[in-house]
Amino acid sequence: MSPEIARPRPPEEEENCLVPGCGAVAARRLSLTEARKAFSGLPDRGRRAPLCRDHYREWKKATKKARTLERATW
Ligand SMILES: [Zn+2]
Repeated sequence: MSPEIARPRPPEEEENCLVPGCGAVAARRLSLTEARKAFSGLPDRGRRAPLCRDHYREWKKATKKARTLERATW
C-alpha cells in the first residue's frame, strides 16, 4: 500500500464571507481590522476577514471614503 499523502487543504481555499448573513465563497481576504472599517458586527474569528466579491467591492468603496476623510483630518 502506498501511503497516500492527504495534504490538508489550505484553509484559504474554502473560506466564506465573514459578513453576517452572506456566507458566499470568499474572493479576497483582509485583516479583520481593515474589514471592520467598512462592516460592523463582524464575528471575531481570528485575525483575518474573508470577503466575497460583492462585499469586497463594498469595502473598497467604504474605505475609499474613509481614506478621504482621514486625509481631511490630517
Ligand atoms: Zn459577502
